[in-house]
Amino acid sequence: MTLRDLIAAKRDGHRHSAEDLKLLARAAAEGSAPDYQLSAWLMAAYLNGLDEEETAALTLAMAGTGERLDLSALPKPWVDKHSTGGVGDKTTIALLPILAAAGLTVVKMSGRGLGITGGTVDKLASIPGFRLDLSPDEMIAQAGRIGLALTGQTPRLAPADKTLYALRDATETVASLPLIVSSILSKKIAGGAEVLGLDVKCGSGAFMADLEHARALASALKRIGERCGLSVHTTITDMDQPLGRTVGNALEVREAFDTLIPGSTPTRFGGLVRHLAAETLVAVQHAQSLAEGITIVDGLLAAGKPLDRARAWVDAQGGDPGVVDGAPGLTGAIAVIDVRSPREGFAARVDARTVGQVVVALGGGRQAANDAIDPAVGVETLVEVGDRVEAGSPVFRIHAKSPDDARVAASSLIGGLTLAQDPVSPIPVVLESSS
Ligand code: URA
Repeated sequence: MTLRDLIAAKRDGHRHSAEDLKLLARAAAEGSAPDYQLSAWLMAAYLNGLDEEETAALTLAMAGTGERLDLSALPKPWVDKHSTGGVGDKTTIALLPILAAAGLTVVKMSGRGLGITGGTVDKLASIPGFRLDLSPDEMIAQAGRIGLALTGQTPRLAPADKTLYALRDATETVASLPLIVSSILSKKIAGGAEVLGLDVKCGSGAFMADLEHARALASALKRIGERCGLSVHTTITDMDQPLGRTVGNALEVREAFDTLIPGSTPTRFGGLVRHLAAETLVAVQHAQSLAEGITIVDGLLAAGKPLDRARAWVDAQGGDPGVVDGAPGLTGAIAVIDVRSPREGFAARVDARTVGQVVVALGGGRQAANDAIDPAVGVETLVEVGDRVEAGSPVFRIHAKSPDDARVAASSLIGGLTLAQDPVSPIPVVLESSS
């Protein structure tokens, strides 16, 4: 078999064997095949699909192209979490310290943001000195000491995905279920975890805009993950409005750590974090039910244990742990202005996509893969769907590099807010959960 044979087979709608898919993954990882051949295969796979057996085989083949973290020296359970990406999604930063405080071992590789969906790596990079280039040995040593470690994507784990993802991005072959599933899961398998919590985002600010597509992705990730030996639990969560109050890297880090402060005001974002933590506790059998999981999580939060873990985490990765408590270090923007509601009503839509686009335009995200990011810029959404809004009350707060940027952002943001005359129900943050 050669890569040309594989392209022809997929073009003609035939199945691949596990050996065929290993050949493909090796060619992608080693750079031994020209991009045009890999791209031709991607388009054939996009058009003719891969069945579940092929998708699982591709996942394992891609996971096998680099190192696999060996977590055997660390206490079990070994958990990881993944979000399919959204606007204002800072969940990892609040969730990991809770899981570590509950005695779980979390070793995680996170991505950068591209387009309107932010990336955890960009958010954490707004903490001065915070290292996101930990080696596999550093990850394991740190997780042994404090229960958690997070690094940016490294070419040492699942390198085939790096090549294939870049080609998919350039050839309009990203939106294929088998290719998405194998891309996500190969990195998770290489990361060594046994239990994976998947947060599948659904709405205008997400990859999957409606529940039907979000369900299909959640269920494919669960089935293929389990075929590959991972225990997977999935949650479908709302991404029609931005998650939490802030969108923008330093702002989101602040909000995530604030969620861990004992006695902090309950928020929609905090509710999601508690839910995902409780689901993970159920998945690893540290809780019998979601309700028991929530009780455990609330007990840890009230005792300040996740906050302690967050300080230890920032310290271990080179940042100032005082940042967790609000010490200077998260840089501020130059122009901060409020956008006021033109009239009264009930917030019927706070469009995540619009807010995400505005934050990218302000410099908080990338339009192209190599763009630099300004950690300080962003948007605070001061209303949520269902809130009553008075004429003239602030609905967004913009953090911009200049008053001109802020003015442009303000006019776009107003277009993302829809007011209704009659009361509107809030959107639940958790839409569907597998536990
Ligand atoms: N995230 C990934 O890691 N891969 C995809 O294909 C899509 C989202």
